[in-house]
Amino acid sequence: MTFKDLGIALPILKAIEEQGYTNPTPIQEQAIPILLNKKDLLGVAQTGTGKTAAFSIPIIHHLHNNPEQTKGKRRIRTLIVTPTRELAIQIADNFTAYSKYTHVKNTVIFGGVKQQRQVNALRNGVDALIATPGRLLDLMNQNIISLRDIEFVVLDEADQMLDMGFIHDIKKIIAKLPKQRQSLFFSATMPTSIVELSKTLLGAFERVTIKPQQATAEKVDQGLFFVSKLNKPKLLVHLINERPSDSVLVFSRTKHGANKIVKKLSQADIKSAAIHGNKSQTARQKALGDFKDGKLRVLIATDIAARGIDVEDLSLVINYDLPNVPETYVHRIGRTGRASASGIALSFCDREERPYLKDIEKLIKQQVPRMPEHQFTDGDDEPAAEEEKRPQQRPNPNRSRNNNRNRNRNRSGNSNNRSANNRNNSSRPRRDD
Ligand code: AMP
Repeated sequence: MTFKDLGIALPILKAIEEQGYTNPTPIQEQAIPILLNKKDLLGVAQTGTGKTAAFSIPIIHHLHNNPEQTKGKRRIRTLIVTPTRELAIQIADNFTAYSKYTHVKNTVIFGGVKQQRQVNALRNGVDALIATPGRLLDLMNQNIISLRDIEFVVLDEADQMLDMGFIHDIKKIIAKLPKQRQSLFFSATMPTSIVELSKTLLGAFERVTIKPQQATAEKVDQGLFFVSKLNKPKLLVHLINERPSDSVLVFSRTKHGANKIVKKLSQADIKSAAIHGNKSQTARQKALGDFKDGKLRVLIATDIAARGIDVEDLSLVINYDLPNVPETYVHRIGRTGRASASGIALSFCDREERPYLKDIEKLIKQQVPRMPEHQFTDGDDEPAAEEEKRPQQRPNPNRSRNNNRNRNRNRSGNSNNRSANNRNNSSRPRRDD
């Protein structure tokens, strides 16, 4: 299937082609026809699947085919609500790219910066508004934004919005929407609270599910190191130094932990920066910009700050801490192995994190492949008793499954040699070797 087969307006097809997309991703193939048909949609999918284009393209198509009839200032006809500033900016960038050859205009608003520039952009008139919930409500309360002309509404990353405590804001926003509208609801997971919330937004809807397991198993080579808390910094330095040409995204469960990792890396002469909620918007944008441009090779992020970060050529994700919510693992490793690339995700697991590992493996329905012994061991690194009793299933995370992967492997060094080096360096064999 091609984008042309989907019946998208020509100026949008031209812009998609310019983006270098040749074929629709599964979510685009399934969601675009539903949305072109003006139906409501429940999309169960995470970032990395191409969902931004899946919802933006049909909306731009409708706005392009039914341009504003009244003279004067444009009305806000589309609202896209997303939890973080980074995600909002990214959606706006994509929306702008896909609408480049149409007359559709958009703007983006988010908190943490002065509102005046955003207000000016709104006063000039836009067809589509991309917003984080707090700033949106704020400007609605000041009567700068009205939702009365909304025809298309997208609630993106709904589970993340709930995790971040936006439920009341979201309900207030939904209450202000006109009854007559097309609604789209996206969430990576569907716990009961999200199902309930989706009912308040959607009318009769169609559902598209892109399973996280597909994203996990097919495109990302995973590996797991048992390592004590104390030895995590050393192993991290070792892994980063082993791959001098790779850009590395390191996940930390806490903001404090993220800052500590930056310090430890700096002691080993590795330059890095952390992005998390306590950093200013300017600092976050600068770190992310430098990382995307390749000026900064290592970025440390908390889950909320990193959600949806879209970096081309991100070859390695390291889970310095395992997440306590198993779905988060899937989100994290989805930062690498995006729509057209493949990647590697390595995780550290200390003794206290073993229950998290169990939950993750239950969710992804596979064992995260165990990496060979490393040299940074102490008495606390041994696999748990139940780990030892497991059958000796040792899938090789470095196995090449396709050409794309081979390319990636070459970029990141020879993994077999790497394993061998690790073995040579190790002070003693693993118990399950
Ligand atoms: P998203 O899930 O929307 O964050 O998209 C993930 C990445 O996939 C972004 O970098 C998009 O530019 C890219 N992408 C989206 N659709 C396609 C496509 N059909 N072909 C190739 N890349 C795509």
